[in-house]
Amino acid sequence: KACWRCSHTRLFSATRVCSSTMTAWVIEKYGSNEVLRFSKDAPFPVINYPNEVIVKVFAAGLNPIDVSMRGGHGAATFSMQRDPLNVLQSGSEFPLILGREVSGTIMECGLDVKYFREGDEVWAAIPPWKQGSLAEFVVLSANEVSHKPKSMTHTEAAGVPYVATTVWSALVNTGGLTEDNCATKRILVLGGSGGVGTFAIQLLKAWGAHVTVTCSRDAQQLVGALGADCVVDYTAGPVKDQLEALGGKFDLILDTIGGQTEHWAPGLLKPWSGSTYITLVTPFVHNADVLGVADGMVKTAALWTSRVFKHIAKGVHYRWGFFAASGPALDEIGALVQAGQIQAVVEETFNFPRVPEAFQRMEKGHARGKTVVQIT
Ligand code: NDP
Repeated sequence: KACWRCSHTRLFSATRVCSSTMTAWVIEKYGSNEVLRFSKDAPFPVINYPNEVIVKVFAAGLNPIDVSMRGGHGAATFSMQRDPLNVLQSGSEFPLILGREVSGTIMECGLDVKYFREGDEVWAAIPPWKQGSLAEFVVLSANEVSHKPKSMTHTEAAGVPYVATTVWSALVNTGGLTEDNCATKRILVLGGSGGVGTFAIQLLKAWGAHVTVTCSRDAQQLVGALGADCVVDYTAGPVKDQLEALGGKFDLILDTIGGQTEHWAPGLLKPWSGSTYITLVTPFVHNADVLGVADGMVKTAALWTSRVFKHIAKGVHYRWGFFAASGPALDEIGALVQAGQIQAVVEETFNFPRVPEAFQRMEKGHARGKTVVQIT
């Protein structure tokens, strides 16, 4: 099936002519909320590789990275991913579409795609160097996509994939946790009330770990309801002292806060027993933005090495955790959703014309779960 006019396999009408534009929220330069522009002629996504699919977007989840990317975060790193040989002009990423989570239906499949068919309901996390989900359609590699759990609505499902695949990458790929080795472990989640924290608690509880969480007072009920065994109010006094007073050290710490926490949190781990501190707040992208990709990578590598060795000398592992798009990970998470072990935590929804308000909500901070935009 191809458009008779341009031979692309794109959306075409009954006359088989491409509809080569779509509606989307785009940015054409970096800045604050006023750079967001509603466009009726954003370029329609094109299948360039046989393993790609076009997804019709029903709902899009927002994350802190959308706010920071709007302001230029990752401009250097993500441009290098889009254009490794640097053949395109600077600014070639515009018009840029934000939104890193999608729930929708498969509209079209590349020739090599076997696992999906047109009309399948899917969810996916979108790598930051690809066009995002604040649009009618998005193109993705099939291996980034997974069948949406039937028990979730599109709005619920859109709030899960980016945080879920980040937690999966950090805990499973970096931390070595599995369904089978979690039951004996004491885990600390620093920052339990946001998108990442609310998902991490549920995954760890589904796998039987003992989970301690830090959050502010008004979030204690939320994280408790998600299954956290111990909840520490970080606004009620020095959080390190409160955690030490609980007695017992941790096998793994997932840090979603960063900054000062790096200095004291690894001291709460069981030394010389393979315990691991994993932080999601890393300087990798920031260093490349400030110093350029090459110098940024050198500085980042030096920093990482010094921290790893400093902590190894104290008997604990120090790691950085990163988002990694993964359809197979979402398949496993979807099974836990279907089994009733994981639920979406959607704090607020906005319809498509209200995307700037959704960004304002994100900028306020103090998230209690996720912000989701309903596209259709
Ligand atoms: P959210 O904004 O959804 O949540 C952050 C939460 O942390 C809020 O609920 C906030 O509530 C709480 N919080 C703030 N300060 C503290 C504190 N000192 N102690 C405990 N809780 C606190 O963010 P996400 O959960 O989506 O992401 C968390 C971090 O992880 C972000 O910095 C994000 O950039 C990073 N991240 C990194 C990725 C990577 O690839 N490395 C991928 C995904 C996320 P309140 O202020 O009311 O306490």
